[in-house]
Amino acid sequence: MYKLLKTCGRAKRGEFHTPHGVIQTPVFMNVGTLAAIKGALSTEDLEKIKCQVELSNTYHLHLRPGDEVVKKLGGLHKFMVWDKPILTDSGGFQVFSLTSLRKITEEGVYFNSHIDGRKIFMGPEESMRIQSNLASTIAMAFDECIGIPAERNYVEQSVARTTRWLARSKAEIDRLNNLDDTINKKQMLFGINQGATYADIRIEHAKVISDMDLDGYAIGGLAVGETHEEMYRILEEVVPYLPQNKPTYLMGVGTPENILEAVERGVDFFDCVLPARNGRHANVYTNKGKLNLMNAKYELDDTPIDETCTCPTCQRYTKAYIRHLFKAKEMLAMRLCVMHNLHFFNTMMEEIRDAIENGTFAEYKKAKLEGFKENGK
Ligand SMILES: [Zn+2]
Repeated sequence: MYKLLKTCGRAKRGEFHTPHGVIQTPVFMNVGTLAAIKGALSTEDLEKIKCQVELSNTYHLHLRPGDEVVKKLGGLHKFMVWDKPILTDSGGFQVFSLTSLRKITEEGVYFNSHIDGRKIFMGPEESMRIQSNLASTIAMAFDECIGIPAERNYVEQSVARTTRWLARSKAEIDRLNNLDDTINKKQMLFGINQGATYADIRIEHAKVISDMDLDGYAIGGLAVGETHEEMYRILEEVVPYLPQNKPTYLMGVGTPENILEAVERGVDFFDCVLPARNGRHANVYTNKGKLNLMNAKYELDDTPIDETCTCPTCQRYTKAYIRHLFKAKEMLAMRLCVMHNLHFFNTMMEEIRDAIENGTFAEYKKAKLEGFKENGK
């Protein structure tokens, strides 16, 4: 259940009630592809860096360790010892981006595993069964993520099929939630809006899926090659056609700048691999823009990454030390930077929530964007 607490322009401040606790929105979901954040972060770390929702990937967990194994061990929450909300994606994005020799039919998709090449079939029912075995808090409907640019004719056919797949996803999750041996019988379902960069197709699709009364709605297939301006234009056109009293989730986005722009356009759920990936490569976020700790100028810098940051890394460690760890290829280097970066994103979301509540989001956004420019991007 989503409770809209306050709006500031189109920006929404809400609370999303789930079987695993309340999510304060806008929220950034921390990506743990294989049930762990890449960069050696533990569940205890996630608690320290204000993570509200962990996101895991259905496709990856289906291959390794296998969703049946996770089910036998009591589901993802028990497996990774995390009792707060978990969102699992549908596997669709990985099927379309990682695998080869795929064939799309009305039933679903045939593809080869990126690990051992074995042939796999996944359709809406399979995706829902896997996510039900994983027992995540929120399951995502199975859809086709269309690459951009795409032919209008193809997009129309694909979106129509994604709508039929959504109806099948919903029927299957309803069935699974009523089975005796299902771990999370209150698993929630988000539908996904598609339509590449054709606003009219996306709007039509948004209207159709809104009528299906799902727990939340995602906008998929963006941040896959179009410009930022194009993405913002699509959000401006489409978000008003998604229910305001449900969460709106922009999948796979993005940079702090992208998040601020999308919040302004009514989006309140985000996820992205960027903070963890950048952290593993010595790129850290600060309120004055991004820094690369490999830079020689930090060799003797005995100050933290960000003087104003309250993360476990900045409480103790200096840029010079972390730079040395990267040079020496010590794992701790990645861990410290990933922790700082995720804390930075989670803290920014907290500030965004406060700004919406105080009715000062526009001023907050302007000041934040100005600050990011200080060190260049
Ligand atoms: Zn920090």
